[in-house]
Amino acid sequence: MKPVIAVMPLWDDDRRSLWMLPGYLDGIAEAGGTGVMLPLITDSDAVAQLISLCDGVLLTGGHDVSPSLYGQEPFDGLETCPARDRMDATALRLALREDKPVLGICRGIQLMNAALGGTLWQDLPTQHPSDVNHHMAPPYDRVAHEVRILPGTPLHQLLGQDFLCVNSYHHQAVRDVAPGLVPMAVSTDGLVEAVYAPDQRFCWGVQWHPEFSFRTDASSRAIFRAFVDACR
Ligand code: MN
Repeated sequence: MKPVIAVMPLWDDDRRSLWMLPGYLDGIAEAGGTGVMLPLITDSDAVAQLISLCDGVLLTGGHDVSPSLYGQEPFDGLETCPARDRMDATALRLALREDKPVLGICRGIQLMNAALGGTLWQDLPTQHPSDVNHHMAPPYDRVAHEVRILPGTPLHQLLGQDFLCVNSYHHQAVRDVAPGLVPMAVSTDGLVEAVYAPDQRFCWGVQWHPEFSFRTDASSRAIFRAFVDACR
């Protein structure tokens, strides 16, 4: 039996429609699991029932995380999706309570950090200007910048290397790391680009996009494999 992984749905405001990047599902499938895209619902009992049917949770990318999650007023121009914030935070809480594996990608690491009590840079270009390109142009399966992988972390154990070249497409990022989370990777301009929860069997977040690069990049495949293997 392949592990079944709940994949959080993305929301298209213009079409008022759910959507999905195939790379999330394909990356899980390549690693030996089956991803299931959930409906966008906020009823916590219904979310709990769906999470109970699955072996793990993938927190996907997409909208900006609402700054209300960490008690701040939103910058002009943020594009948030309160329903996704509620659903993702509920799914995360339930998964952690049942010690089910969680992988957060891009918005996923940001949501994870905010929901667990940390804060975010709401807009990197204005709040954290730097020469590092965090907002690359497509195609996204190329290198945008380097991160340092912190020794002693499970990501360092997995990859066995001190530096990693990653793609990058984000304008928000982890600022104050939540209690319960520990940094695993830091960009050369000082952004926390990967975290994990030491108290959990597997709760990782990465700021880069393995779903765009798993076909060509072994480290992206290794991250999906570590997640799916933890879900078995
Ligand atoms: Mn980046």
